[in-house]
Amino acid sequence: MPSSLSLHDTATRSVREFVPISPGEVGIYLCGATVQAPPHVGHIRSGVAFDVLRRWLIDQGYGVTFIRNVTDIDDKIIHNAGHDGVPYWVVAMRNERAFSRAYDALGCLPPTYEPRATGHIPEMIAMMQRLITEGYGYATNGDVYFDVRAFEGYGKLSGQRIDDMLASPDSEAQVKRDARDFAMWKSAKPGEPCWDTPWGPGRPGWHIECSAMAARYLGPNFDIHGGGLDLVFPHHENEIAQSKAAGDQFANYWVHNAWVTTAGEKMSKSLGNSLLVDEVVKRVRPIELRYYLVGAHYRSMLEYSDESVNEAGQGFRRIEGFLQRSHEFLGADPRLLDPDPSSRPEAFDAAMNDDLAVPQAFAILHETVRGGNAALTEKSASVVADAFKATLAMLDVLGLNPWAQPWVAAGKADSESVIDALVQVALQQRQEARARKDFAASDAIRDGLDAIGIRIEDTPQGARWTLEQ
Ligand SMILES: [Zn+2]
Repeated sequence: MPSSLSLHDTATRSVREFVPISPGEVGIYLCGATVQAPPHVGHIRSGVAFDVLRRWLIDQGYGVTFIRNVTDIDDKIIHNAGHDGVPYWVVAMRNERAFSRAYDALGCLPPTYEPRATGHIPEMIAMMQRLITEGYGYATNGDVYFDVRAFEGYGKLSGQRIDDMLASPDSEAQVKRDARDFAMWKSAKPGEPCWDTPWGPGRPGWHIECSAMAARYLGPNFDIHGGGLDLVFPHHENEIAQSKAAGDQFANYWVHNAWVTTAGEKMSKSLGNSLLVDEVVKRVRPIELRYYLVGAHYRSMLEYSDESVNEAGQGFRRIEGFLQRSHEFLGADPRLLDPDPSSRPEAFDAAMNDDLAVPQAFAILHETVRGGNAALTEKSASVVADAFKATLAMLDVLGLNPWAQPWVAAGKADSESVIDALVQVALQQRQEARARKDFAASDAIRDGLDAIGIRIEDTPQGARWTLEQ
């Protein structure tokens, strides 16, 4: 495996060489959305950051199983459903679709599987039963709690001592052994959605979902667990406590992306609708928004403003302009549009292998474009060709190839394939006319195509066509 990828592991607070559990395979669990509201730009950053990691691993030859869950039941979903006078699942589905739309719009590959919390209640009950049997959990008044003092190592991921932690806010302290014990299961209040358990009707606490679903799809030990930096505590701390106490080895690497901030603060719903992904993509081309989000190191806070997005957009358009001009200069050969990973500069790959250092990788990209533009001015075809291929390959692995899906509008691709089928029919007839030496007929077909802007070129591999713009 030609990979020397290193990743920052929150658990060890260091950049470690990535070594998969099974050679050639990587399992990733990414905490997905709690679907209480549609996503704003801040929500989508983690999806984009982990899409870059996934694409890089695929490029390096790994088979990647990518699980991103949907938390489709929680207090805020129930609250919002009550407000709208609809069942909880109406709110959950509406917002799940908004998240899928946003991931698709920003070019994130769809997950291998996207499990919903409410579809995995039996797995959660089984895990809680194990934890109660082993002395790490206890049921009281229909709730089930995790006993944080029973688990050695609680607080290790976030680097805290139990005594310094605040009380876990999910219920009245008096029913718990320790104020920091957290709820794995919450008893239902009258009228709330609920599922039956040995401890009475209720619904999952957030943390148990991810422990149960990660094990269900990736097994008791898997490679990478990801999420936003804000999930380190308590969510991931609690996932580790549950899974390890239940006997799972759980994740080998903990990778966290930083937030998007606005005016120095974590982006939040209170900012209104203008930063919803659905709205932003009306003002900004989605590929430029992705370029903006990808361009910052995933562990750096990203301060969002319309100006910074516009600036990024200008940077991307410079790259795109070079690609278009050089492609034309090189004869608009469609074969040039197949990205070849071996065309990437070594320094680019080295930057990506160094904990996905995209800012350094972008520097190589811009340097390549500058060199390519100079070569265009000098009409130096081989230098232009090399720069073109390198640029395309670098963009492609970052999900930013403007000639790849989803950036090429589906409608355009469809009409192109229809035109291609029609032209192939005409070319076949022309070929038959030539075979019977009816050159008047074959020339007439060629001239007819020419009149509507379709240029035919005879090559050793057969006739090729291009559409005159
Ligand atoms: Zn989670």
